[in-house]
Formats: sequence, C-alpha cells, structure tokens
Amino acid sequence: MATTQQKDYYGVLGVKKTASADDIRKAFRKLARKYHPDVNPNDKKAEEKFKEISEANDILSDDKKRKIYDQFGFYSDQIDPAAAEAAARAGQSGYAQGPRGQQQGAPFDFSGFDFSEEAPGAASGQGWGGFRDIFSGMFNRERQDHGPQPGTDLEYQVNVDFWTAIRGGIARLEIQRQELCPACHGKASTGGSQTCPECHGQGQVTQMGGRMKFNIQCPRCGGTGKVQNDCPTCHGEGTVYRTEPLEFRIKPGTRDGQRIRLAGKGNAGLNGGPAGDLYLIIRGGTHPVFARIADDIHITLPVTVSEAALGSRIEVPTIDGRAQLRIPPGTQSGQKLRMRDRGVPSATKEGARGDEIVTVEVSVPQLRDERSREILREFAKLNPEDPRESIWTKV
Ligand SMILES: [Zn+2]
Ligand SMILES: [Zn+2]
Repeated sequence: MATTQQKDYYGVLGVKKTASADDIRKAFRKLARKYHPDVNPNDKKAEEKFKEISEANDILSDDKKRKIYDQFGFYSDQIDPAAAEAAARAGQSGYAQGPRGQQQGAPFDFSGFDFSEEAPGAASGQGWGGFRDIFSGMFNRERQDHGPQPGTDLEYQVNVDFWTAIRGGIARLEIQRQELCPACHGKASTGGSQTCPECHGQGQVTQMGGRMKFNIQCPRCGGTGKVQNDCPTCHGEGTVYRTEPLEFRIKPGTRDGQRIRLAGKGNAGLNGGPAGDLYLIIRGGTHPVFARIADDIHITLPVTVSEAALGSRIEVPTIDGRAQLRIPPGTQSGQKLRMRDRGVPSATKEGARGDEIVTVEVSVPQLRDERSREILREFAKLNPEDPRESIWTKV
C-alpha cells in the first residue's frame, strides 16, 4: 500500500507557515550555503540535509505546489491546484461527523487529466497542419463515442479519528461518482434520430484551412445530416452522477497520509470500458495527550523535582492504558525516555510496534510554607554548583 510521507517543509527551512516567497528564498540560500556538498565533502549527514532543504525549497518556492502542500500536508503532481483550492473551500464549510467519529473530506475529481490530447498548434490555423489539427479534435470525439473508454479515477480525503486509525474499524463516507445511465445503459441515446446540430442537416460543413475554404463531410453525422437522439436522462453523456454511501475497513495502525485503493470504484467507463479506481487518502485525527508520528507515540510528562533528582517509578499513560516507567536519578527536563513497543502496532509489519517516547518536563514546586523554603536554602548551600558555568566558557 502506498504511503504518502508527511514532511514538515516549513520546519526544514525554519520559516513560519506565513513566510513570504522572499523569506523562503533567503532561508533556503542560507541553509544551502551551510550544507552544500561542495562545502561538506564526504559528509553524509550534510548531504541528506541538503537534499531535504532542496526538496522543501522546490515545493515552497513554487506557488502552486505550496498551495497543494498547505492544503494536504504533502505534495503530489497528481493533484490539480484548482482542486486543492476547492477542497480548501469545502473543508472550511464544516464536516459532517459520522457515528464513529469519521469525517468526510472534500472530494476532488481527476477527470480533468485525461484530456491530454489537445491538438498541438491548433491555435495557429495556418496551412494544412492547422486544418488537420482543427478537425483532429472532432474525429477524436467521434472515436471516443464508439470505442470503449475507461472511467476516470476518483480521489477522496477521509478524516479518521485517532483511535480508529490505531485500532482499525469501519469508516463511512459518501462519494459522488459517475455511473452508467440507467435509462440508456451508457449508449447516450434512446435510439431515435434528430437533425445533426453540427451541420444543421446539411451533411457538410465549411471549414477554413489557412486562407482556403473547404466543404467537407460533416464529421459528427458522417454526412447523413441526422444524429441519434440524446438520452434525456443523461443528456447524451451516457453517465449520470450519483451520490453513493461507501463503507470500508481501516486497518489497525493506518497512518496519516496513507492511500487506500478501491479498484473499480471510480467513475464508470463508456462503451464497455472499465471503471476507474477510487483512492482514499487517510487523514489521521489528533489526541489531546498523545501525538502520533508514524508508529511512535510521543507524550510530554511532568515529573516533580524530587522524582527527577532521586529517580522514581511513575505511571505513564500509553495507548494500551497505564504503564510503569523508571525515571533514572538525575533526569533533566526535556530528556526523552523510550518505552519500547508501547507505540502503534504496524499496519504493514506483522507483530511490529512503534515505541512511546516520553519527554520529561520537570515541574518546579510553588513553595507555600517557610519550612520548605528553609529546606531548599539548605539544599542550595549543600549544592553550590553553577549550572551556567559551561556556558560562560563558550561565550
Ligand atoms: Zn442515458
Ligand atoms: Zn452533420
């Protein structure tokens, strides 16, 4: 299953999300000077870092790519910036919360991508080339009307709450997809005929080729002057849009950004062509205490001065409930302690689990009585070391 990795491009460049194009350029130049392979020969870390900042700059310095990244948290050239904007607008209008807490994201349709065969040079209209090009579009259309035409793919974002992504479950959403028209079964016509709208029944059309005028057989009706009636249900499209409820399984350990492919659940094909696929991009929800990064769970845990200084065993929340953690004597604020295999069970590796990373935060007591203040003053006398000493040697 393909996974789209989340990357913090702003963090990589050390700029704010609101940074201007100029800020981004400056930040990149500064970092590039520092990490450029020419400046750091044979330094693997610098090379990695240089790749990272180059990638971040590539996305953030391009307005279109940045828009997509801002909206989805990752960049893919499969996504149309206009669709990203539409999704952003739809996202702001509020989600319908499902019974299990899943939310429906904004749909965007990939159907626009299939029209890559735009006639080159059609705009020039000069000489025979231009003439052919003008008509190639129409002939293409005729051919498409008769041959099998595969359906386009659909892509939806699905917001899945924190626990469902970890434990698995059923997600529900409504999708809009093109289906074969139930009235004409995709034929686009009810069988009767009408006057050809292209040649108005003449069977011939006049076209300019450069400065010359040509009468040619109407490509729409093949010179008969009549075409089949458009089906009134689908207006001659052969397909209709339908909103369809969809239920699918979320695997335990599903990650944010993961793509799920449902084959054949995209738009219907025409004339016997296969249906497209439906891609679901999972957006994992957040939790007030646990932060999830890939399969690891991160948590910040306050401890008292005495617990940190003397060492202790404390209870820590994990995604499975309470667990014991040993705080070694002399633990500093900000220190990270790893609880192995207390993270999220992997969706891809059977039996594997992430870790829980506990960041210790030493909580300084508010002294409310004279006796406690006395004890601390005495403590200070017994421990005259200056924690800033090493700093002074460096400035
Ligand atoms: Zn129809
Ligand atoms: Zn015609």
